[in-house]
Amino acid sequence: FDHILAVTLLEASPMTILSTNTPSEELRRVDAAHHMHPFTNNSELGDKGARVVTRASGCWLTDSDGNRILDAMAGLWCVNIGYGREELAEAAKRQMLELPYYNTFFQTSHVPAIALAARLAELAPGDLNSVFFAGSGSEANDTNLRMVRTYWQAKGQPDRNVIIGRWNGYHGSTVGAMSLGGMKGMHEQGGVLDGIEHIDQPNWWSEGGDMSPDEFGLERARQLEEKILEIGADRVAAFIAEPVQGAGGVIIAPDTYWPEIQRIVDKYGILLIADEVICGFGRTGNWFASQALGLRPHIMTIAKGLSSGYQPIGGSIVCDEVAEVIGGVEFNHGYTYSGHPVACAVALENLRIMEDEKIVERVRDDTGPYLKERFESLGDHPLVGEVKIIGMMGSLALTPNKAIRAPFTSDVGTVGFICRERCFANNLIMRHVGDRMIISPPLVISRDEIDTLVERARLSLDETLVALQ
Ligand code: PLP
Repeated sequence: FDHILAVTLLEASPMTILSTNTPSEELRRVDAAHHMHPFTNNSELGDKGARVVTRASGCWLTDSDGNRILDAMAGLWCVNIGYGREELAEAAKRQMLELPYYNTFFQTSHVPAIALAARLAELAPGDLNSVFFAGSGSEANDTNLRMVRTYWQAKGQPDRNVIIGRWNGYHGSTVGAMSLGGMKGMHEQGGVLDGIEHIDQPNWWSEGGDMSPDEFGLERARQLEEKILEIGADRVAAFIAEPVQGAGGVIIAPDTYWPEIQRIVDKYGILLIADEVICGFGRTGNWFASQALGLRPHIMTIAKGLSSGYQPIGGSIVCDEVAEVIGGVEFNHGYTYSGHPVACAVALENLRIMEDEKIVERVRDDTGPYLKERFESLGDHPLVGEVKIIGMMGSLALTPNKAIRAPFTSDVGTVGFICRERCFANNLIMRHVGDRMIISPPLVISRDEIDTLVERARLSLDETLVALQ
């Protein structure tokens, strides 16, 4: 019987023997057989399979073939303090031993959630003093969707329930967050919620036509006013936007855009939700991009850099007025992992390190300006049109003709994809969004590593040019 059991167990769970020492081909085979990847067309992986990352330190990944790869995307824009910080592992271990889990529902609380909420209230601008925790950025935006509607209901204006987002904005993958976002490929797969409208993005390079960037910025911001008037000013609950669109291609709005948005939001008394999931926690050289851009949001969405990606955690930092109104009703909303103690403890340790090591100041005054100078030097490459960068997030628009800001025609395929593959081959992780190449490295990247990043990017651009000929 024991023998039969042993054989059965072996057959049922052959994966238990997989480890980082397992040969790459075997890892890829099992991955292809059993693992459904987000935002991936598995059939396109072909024989190549997925690149399996086995360990990481600082800004460098190691894959199962032993390659060392410079991660110019900080994972998914999240590993702000870099990989391999033992203090975070220690904080998780301490918290797991002391209190691995408890919830914050039904009038209970625990120290890590209390301490993190208080710390975030100190860091956040203005009167953003209260935090509702979630497990991710998407969940936090779902919270925002429900919270702003509940807010207006509680204020006796239940018809004020329409939320305006932007085309090509990204707010996450849950049904609510996907609906707030404006990713057409996601909307096309169905499930978009009613009561959410979109305006166009401030992407001057692709959509600015003959207008100057400043004229275009005003034109795009004024679409918000037009949309509010079209819907009816007393029906609009909130406007949600990323201060800098990340997944849309690191689109940095013209200077005229945000002051005009703020004017319109103020004029019509609607709530402003700044989605700081990427931009927050030092990415732009400020704790939050809203500070850099002079925005006064009522709610900020946070995640990613909050824990540097070491633990899944997100949340909404909420202004006094909204917190007071929501606090006056029972907000029937929450997640099992809202304010998870281990995630909160890790986030607190992450914020401590960021502060003690002056990581935000370093990005603002030292490595950020250096990256800007070096990254902008790629502007002389024949394939590169616009170069945009703020702090530690930047993008290159690839073009066959920069003088007229021409897009590539579809018959050459996605040039960004070719370039991304060349980067991969050169052991540099850069992402592409259509024909925009984007970077968002760990905030701790050194000057030497910035040089390596730019050299490898130039080499990859050269190879892309050759591939197009
Ligand atoms: N908001 C923004 C601006 C994002 O970039 C993302 C993820 O990339 C999200 C929300 C969703 O966060 P998550 O993937 O943690 O759900």
